[in-house]
Amino acid sequence: MQLKTILNRCHKFKSFVYDQVRFVGEAIEVTVLPRANAKAICSHCSKPAPVYDHLAERRFEFIPIWGYRVFFLYRMRRVDCRDCGVKVERVPWARGKRELTDTYQQFLAHWAEKLSWLEVARSFRTSWEKVFQAVEFVVQWGLEHRDLSEVTALGVDEIAWRHGHNYLTLVYQIDAENTRLLWIGKDRTMKTLLRFFHFFGEQRSLKLQYVCSDMWKPYLKVIKKKAANALNILDRFHIVAKLNKAIDEVRAGEHRQLQKDGYEPVLKNSRWCLLKRKENLTEKQEAKLKDLLQYNLKSVRAYLLKEDFDGFWDYVSAAWAGKFLDRWCTRVMRSKIEPMKKVAKTMRAHKPLILNWFKAKKALSSGVVEGLNNKAKVTTRNSYGFRTYRGAEIALYHALGNLPKPPMAHRFC
Ligand SMILES: [Zn+2]
Repeated sequence: MQLKTILNRCHKFKSFVYDQVRFVGEAIEVTVLPRANAKAICSHCSKPAPVYDHLAERRFEFIPIWGYRVFFLYRMRRVDCRDCGVKVERVPWARGKRELTDTYQQFLAHWAEKLSWLEVARSFRTSWEKVFQAVEFVVQWGLEHRDLSEVTALGVDEIAWRHGHNYLTLVYQIDAENTRLLWIGKDRTMKTLLRFFHFFGEQRSLKLQYVCSDMWKPYLKVIKKKAANALNILDRFHIVAKLNKAIDEVRAGEHRQLQKDGYEPVLKNSRWCLLKRKENLTEKQEAKLKDLLQYNLKSVRAYLLKEDFDGFWDYVSAAWAGKFLDRWCTRVMRSKIEPMKKVAKTMRAHKPLILNWFKAKKALSSGVVEGLNNKAKVTTRNSYGFRTYRGAEIALYHALGNLPKPPMAHRFC
């Protein structure tokens, strides 16, 4: 059986034929010719047009086979289009000036869902840039073809990027039927989120029923203005994150103070046992926590306040939860632990929005934003070479966008 037979089976064109197949060094080259009597197509308007002239031969890379790189060789024609003038023809296997065929790009992008871009490049003997281009192509197609009509619930989130010097704002759809990343923007200002709503459109924005976010003021302001019919919810994940941040601050400060005053460094290596959920602690961390709880330390008191707050989420009625919140805030204000007091103050100020959580509890599963946030962090962390914003953007859409894929006549992977 010849390679041509296989190609005709899995990658056949209506208006072009495979001609010669030969080895050139370690690569296989396949010459492609236009089928006799088939018209050339104007790339500008997609209509048939008479041939004007031929350009120099171009190479288009296809999926490698058994370790050999495969190239299609073809002399692009220019057409003399009645409407557009002299234009390059359109070919069905690649677009624009791209060196990679569409099929090969989809193939690389498929593997880039499972491996890092560098690993994909090494596995198929291509470059990181080519893998990037391939993923970009698939993402672009997906963004152009996705359906945004059924979005009723949004999650607004932020992640630190490039060693925490910059932020990205991520907007997710968090409907039960479809959770995915919808949009990414630089920074976390009002302008950032306004740009999202501009993209999303007024009609769709007014149909939103729920928007989950954290207490970040610029977000709250924009949500109120642009998603006027939606219930804005401060979700559990962001509140717990705030409490954890406060505990971390208390612990770090106290640890320094103890060392300065020449005490035993009891808080050394205690970070995770104070931040993690109890059920996730390792045996060693559990022992450390047990040990710590015997001391009368600010860090321990802060930790216990956070633990107590867990009870808040078990309420069914928003009214009772509100009473709990008031009592808890009063205790924190008396604790004299500054970072915790700061959190309590913010919570008091946002009490109605926090209590909205109980109104939406049945409609939204609480872990969605947290799950997406974790995945986003892993994506940017693992993404060797994502120093550019464009790289991070494409990788995030690829990993979290749940995007539709260009159709393929044959499944190559
Ligand atoms: Zn044309």
